[in-house]
Amino acid sequence: MIERKRSVAGYDPTNVRCPHCMTDVPSLLRAPDECPHCGRALKDSAGHRVRDLDQDFGTIRDQLHEQSLRRLKQGTIVCVVLSLANGFAPVVFAPLIFIQQVIWARPLISAPYARHFSTSRRIVTRWLSRFFVFSMASIHVGGAVPGVHFALVIASPIVFVLTCGTTWAYHRFHLQREHDREPVMFVEKVLLVVGALCALLALAGMILIGMAVGGAISMFSK
Ligand SMILES: [Zn+2]
Repeated sequence: MIERKRSVAGYDPTNVRCPHCMTDVPSLLRAPDECPHCGRALKDSAGHRVRDLDQDFGTIRDQLHEQSLRRLKQGTIVCVVLSLANGFAPVVFAPLIFIQQVIWARPLISAPYARHFSTSRRIVTRWLSRFFVFSMASIHVGGAVPGVHFALVIASPIVFVLTCGTTWAYHRFHLQREHDREPVMFVEKVLLVVGALCALLALAGMILIGMAVGGAISMFSK
C-alpha cells in the first residue's frame, strides 16, 4: 500500500527520508531513532528529526538562491516579450501573461523551497502565496482591454518582477525559519482565514452575477 502511494504521488507523508543515505524510512506513527538502512541517527540529541537542512543548510540555501535568480531573470525576459506582443494582440497575450506569472512565481520559484518545509508550513505558504500570486496576476487581465494594453507593456513586467520577488523572499524567509525550527506565524494563519473568506465571497459574487445575467437574458428573450 505504502509502495503504491509513494510511486503515484512521489511523496508519502508516512515516510521520512534519511538525510544521510536518502532512502525512505517508513514512519507511520513515529520515526525510528536510527535509519534501518545505514544505521545513522535520524534524531539529534534534543529529539528533533535530522533533516537535509540540518546537514548542509548553507549549500541548500545558496543553490536555491542561484536557481531562483536564474529563473527570475529568464521569466522577466519571457514576460517582456509577451508584454510587447500584447501591444499587438491583447486578447491572445494578456491571458498568456497571467498563466506565465502563475507558473514562474509558484512551481518554478517557490516550490523548490517548499520541498524542505514541514507539512503545516507547506500548506500555509502554498495557500498564502497562491492568493497573492492570483490577485497580482489578475492585473495582467486588464491588458486585454484595448487602450489599457499599451500601459501594460511597461506595467506587466514590473508586476511580474514584484510578484515573483515577493513570493521568493517569502519562501526564503521560511527556509530560514524551517532551519531554525521556528513555527508558522500567527499573523499568517489569520491571513489564511481572511484569504479563504475573500475567495468564498468572490465566488458567491460571481455566482450571483451569473444568475442575474442569466435571469436578465431569459427575461429579454421572452
Ligand atoms: Zn540512512
